[in-house]
Amino acid sequence: MSGQSRGSTTTSTSTSTAGAINPFEVALKQLDEAAKLINLDAGLHQVLAHPKRVLTVSIPVRMDNGEVKVFTGFRSQHNDARGPYKGGIRYHPQVTVDEVKALSMWMTWKCAIADIPYGGGKGGIICNPKEMSDGELERMTRRYAYGIADIIGPMTDIPAPDVYTGGKEMAWIMDTYSALKGNYVQPEVITGKPLAIGGSLGRNEATGRGLSFTVREAAKRLKVNMKSATVAVQGFGNAGQFASQLVEEQGAKVIAASDSKGGVYNKAGISVSALRKHKEKTGSVTGFAGAKSISNEELLEIECTILIPAALENQITGRNAGKIKAKIVAEAANGPTTPEADDILYKNGILTIPDILANGGGVTVSYFEWLQNLRREYWTEDEVNQRLDRNITKAFSDVYETHEKYRVNMRKASTLLAVNRVVEAIKIRGLWP
Ligand code: GLU
Repeated sequence: MSGQSRGSTTTSTSTSTAGAINPFEVALKQLDEAAKLINLDAGLHQVLAHPKRVLTVSIPVRMDNGEVKVFTGFRSQHNDARGPYKGGIRYHPQVTVDEVKALSMWMTWKCAIADIPYGGGKGGIICNPKEMSDGELERMTRRYAYGIADIIGPMTDIPAPDVYTGGKEMAWIMDTYSALKGNYVQPEVITGKPLAIGGSLGRNEATGRGLSFTVREAAKRLKVNMKSATVAVQGFGNAGQFASQLVEEQGAKVIAASDSKGGVYNKAGISVSALRKHKEKTGSVTGFAGAKSISNEELLEIECTILIPAALENQITGRNAGKIKAKIVAEAANGPTTPEADDILYKNGILTIPDILANGGGVTVSYFEWLQNLRREYWTEDEVNQRLDRNITKAFSDVYETHEKYRVNMRKASTLLAVNRVVEAIKIRGLWP
């Protein structure tokens, strides 16, 4: 490969996303706390503290200028006691191996809470997709798929979209995998696909829709009237947009939203569909007519009923948790709140619907997509949404009951419930060889 020596090399670093807080350390701390509450056997605790396998792949890509650039990608497979590894693939400049490991552990808990027959996995490539052409993205995605092809598969590990990936990338991965492995179409190797190649109706909206169901359930328990509730959303990507649209449909008023370029605030309310159109046209929520501009940090601290962090990890920390005024924090993002912040929110009487419960709608509809693919069926959107509602509502009450029973915050309740389910599967299957 002649251009390789001239190409720049992207390597993994140990620096974590958004500063000094390492997401894998956060995930381990959450596991420790759950383990203590249920008196978990030390050996099983160790099993769960280590992903079963973490693969690192170098991804040489011929860039449009003719040079070769080598990207680094990962796939972490945390646990498969309850079923095949499942979880998304993210493209982001701040991806690290520890971030991917943390996210794969959270996927194990998420699938256990949703009570779907999967374990947890996660993948990522260190790259900035916003600065890459479609051709470069396609070559990088296919080469990554080639690199992980031997450890993924319809019955072993089923990837999906995550931050800055979507149907387009899923289609390339399905096509590459199918060509490599027998050269017949295998849609069930990946979820979050476009409809034309076996995607499911309702999958695109599923994370936001699932989150809106958990907010509805939390509001019932706390006797919050959705008609007078106000909402602030940090992160106006796929999950943030659908979540805000669907809570707006429940009668709530969205008063603030932000993205990586900044935020907008209007006490009188912001129309979600108008804001989506504005973002589609300009690439950002900033500059939306009639709204004041605010920073991402300010957005978290504004007076509102429901706060939806829908961006990246470590946004609510020991530094700003005490300033949060919302009654409900519903986490569309994975890992937005640190353990220290969790304790502060709980002490201040704020109900956090943790990521592994609140955003479980995405992977739940991924499961429905996989079932449809395996059966070569297509379900109606109504059927998908109704099943999602039943599933998420049940998951919410399981977690809420655990939170009341153990008198712990919702994150500890979720992790505890999940760990119990996974441990039961590990024990029944036994340790072999
Ligand atoms: N990336 C999403 C998540 O974090 C979806 C995973 C999936 O559908 O497998 O839950």
